[in-house]
Amino acid sequence: MSPVRTVDEHLAAILAAVRPLTPLDLALLEAEGTILAEPVAAPVPLPPFDNSAMDGYAVVAADVAGATEQTPVTLPVVGDVAAGDTGVSAIASGMCTRIMTGAPVPAGADAVVPVEWTDGGIVSVRIDRSVPPGHYIRRAGEDVAEGQVVLEPGVRLGAPQIGMLAAVGRARVRVRPRPRVVVLSTGDELREPGSPLAPGQIWDSNSFMITAAVHEAGGVGFRHSALVDAPEKVLAALREQLTRADAVITTGGVSMGARDVVKEALAGTLTFTKVAMRPGKPQGFGLLDGVPVFTLPGNPVSAYVSFQVFVRPALRAMQGLPPEPPSAGTAVLAEPVRSPRGLRHYLRGRLTGGGAVTPASAQGSHQMGALAAADALIVVPEEREHMAAGEEVEIWRLP
Ligand code: AMP
Ligand code: MG
Repeated sequence: MSPVRTVDEHLAAILAAVRPLTPLDLALLEAEGTILAEPVAAPVPLPPFDNSAMDGYAVVAADVAGATEQTPVTLPVVGDVAAGDTGVSAIASGMCTRIMTGAPVPAGADAVVPVEWTDGGIVSVRIDRSVPPGHYIRRAGEDVAEGQVVLEPGVRLGAPQIGMLAAVGRARVRVRPRPRVVVLSTGDELREPGSPLAPGQIWDSNSFMITAAVHEAGGVGFRHSALVDAPEKVLAALREQLTRADAVITTGGVSMGARDVVKEALAGTLTFTKVAMRPGKPQGFGLLDGVPVFTLPGNPVSAYVSFQVFVRPALRAMQGLPPEPPSAGTAVLAEPVRSPRGLRHYLRGRLTGGGAVTPASAQGSHQMGALAAADALIVVPEEREHMAAGEEVEIWRLP
């Protein structure tokens, strides 16, 4: 008899065995989606210099203090400053320069009059409105101060963070890489989607679903086509894949049948155990040549739930993130649920308006239809055998 573990015990055993990946230096765009592993500070203030927020005229505010449409002020235009100009000459009271958005404000000027408030003149300009000092000038450092930490370690680098790194002049950055995860399904009955089915065959859904789930969890998934139920072939494929993997996930072949090929292939290397949960009771985990291998059950809903419960937290830990499940919360049960005593039950559900969740009517571990229609898992604790409509229950929003 294989041992029985609680969900928490099995997860703890997994988390004790996985390590954060070693940080590496990546070029900015290669770092997209990875986790920052260093604090990043601005070497200069942002903006680096006072510059114009508008296309208009750099002026001495006092010169246009009385300007109105009835009493416009006309000033000579002594220059033209565009974004990127260096060596901009100073101005004095009684003159102005044309200035473009992003161009350095000339010394001596203390405000910008937008072109819309003028006649747009090139030699001289008629200004119809006054501006207070500082108007339409973006001050050096008003976005980010010199030396300020703009990104802390642990943040995932999405588009705004990649932009921030570039804005502070970084071409490369130290990150924890996305874990590379090989996904292998097993089963003589499996066929590649797109190919015809003979009687008794089904299309392989697990390897696609779990590869996508790896991506959602921040990893890079490498999907392997389905393996036949032959232990030596499974072991050979696993060993071959180890070289490019930070982790391996298999599905199928771990329960109590006559063809439990993954169990046969890895008995003695991995720990195979029953976990007190539904779906997902048969689980295996261990290190193969130091690489974490998760052997998930074959039923698609079981495989998916097992991924969220055990693999996702491990992939997060490998990225140096808190090993959390998908975004957890609570909802009110719209209908009562029954649950097996002693097992943690993960039901498929749909969130409805007003903080309620409706359990799917189809809760079989083979029922992909209900999983694909669900947007949440309902988590019923081990000790509850039924929960009433109106009771508050833990839910995980599916990514
Ligand atoms: P097993 O754990 O290998 O006995 O598989 C349990 C059930 O899940 C069987 O009905 C299999 O046909 C099904 N199954 C296993 N692997 C997959 C897969 N990759 N895609 C879809 N169904 C699968
Ligand atoms: Mg099988």
